[in-house]
Amino acid sequence: MAVDVLIVGAGLAGLMAATTLQENGLTVHVIDRGRSVGGRLATRRVGENGLADHGAQFFTVRTSTLQRYVDRWRALDLVYVWGTGWSDGSLKRTISDGHPRYAVRGGMNKLAKHLEQGINISIDRLISGIRQENGGWELYDSGGKSYAANGLIMTPPMPETLELLTASGVHLNADDDAALRRIRFGPCLCGIHAVNGDVDLPEPGAMQNFQSDVYWIADNQAKGISATRIITSHANAKFSRQNWDASEADIIRALESAVQPFLKPGANIVQTQLKKWRYSVPLTTHPQECLLAQDLPPLVFAGDAFGGRGRVEGAFLSGIAAGETMAEALASLS
Ligand SMILES: Cc1cc2nc3c(=O)[nH]c(=O)nc-3n(C[C@H](O)[C@H](O)[C@H](O)COP(=O)(O)OP(=O)(O)OC[C@H]3O[C@@H](n4cnc5c(N)ncnc54)[C@H](O)[C@@H]3O)c2cc1C
Repeated sequence: MAVDVLIVGAGLAGLMAATTLQENGLTVHVIDRGRSVGGRLATRRVGENGLADHGAQFFTVRTSTLQRYVDRWRALDLVYVWGTGWSDGSLKRTISDGHPRYAVRGGMNKLAKHLEQGINISIDRLISGIRQENGGWELYDSGGKSYAANGLIMTPPMPETLELLTASGVHLNADDDAALRRIRFGPCLCGIHAVNGDVDLPEPGAMQNFQSDVYWIADNQAKGISATRIITSHANAKFSRQNWDASEADIIRALESAVQPFLKPGANIVQTQLKKWRYSVPLTTHPQECLLAQDLPPLVFAGDAFGGRGRVEGAFLSGIAAGETMAEALASLS
């Protein structure tokens, strides 16, 4: 089916871009290589009754645009306040700073599942080629299927987008290319630990300490998304980079030893799964909320690395900005 705009990526930015374009009366097709929508809004099933958020853990709100959506999501009981601050792990008590940290009922991925309703999406399709065609764009997936549209929005982490454009022979204007190459992401080694017994994480069930190699440890059961005790651990970008190529057993050992002090006597880790996020959060961002490529058919870059905020709120706002920018670019052609 021919559509007005193709969107690569069904993470938060891609889903918000699609929603915005549809509100502007345009047709879209969102394509994602994942087995589900959501991208880094990722929730994994562990065993029969366990769930773990292993990408984004919570989100904060600093803009009225996101606040309006969050008010709606809270009225639907989709989103709730998980806490208003974290302990650094050295204290038994969590100090509240008064700012809500929001989580999603059933796991962060459920937010993407909510937003995907009414959008034309294909999952499990890896886009492997891009080319200009008839003043618009043609995409190819790894299965050989092609997709065409007048406009294209790219939302994968920028290093992946640039790799794909280069491999496809699509050349950006020198200024755009330089600006996009300045965007950098940090990696994250993540442990998903099934625990037998109780843990001793401070209320509301997490510790955050940026001085530690493993800076985040959270209890998905205390969070309210898992029926069984599943702990998520995240190593910081420096540790993750240094240990990226270590053996899986060594990485798991390091993550487990960070979790160990938070287990109550008698509790033990029964299994750990490792997830390696090569691009977890942006370390260097682009100042604009999205970028319309110069000297090419309508092509907009978006995602959490745009707008200077990073994170869930950055992806959300960038997606909306990309949808609006693309709608204007297409209108100016007709
Ligand atoms: C470990 C970790 C912890 C985090 N913690 C937090 C947190 O606590 N709070 C917070 O606010 N944020 C957090 N974040 C960041 C947050 O998850 C992201 O900012 C946000 O989800 C990014 O959304 P996005 O749409 O920009 O990108 P993504 O969610 O990455 O979406 C991009 C999509 O593009 C798809 N894609 C890529 N290449 C292709 C291709 N060639 N073909 C087809 N599809 C493709 C991917 O499958 C993906 O679904 C965390 C992220 C990670 C990984």
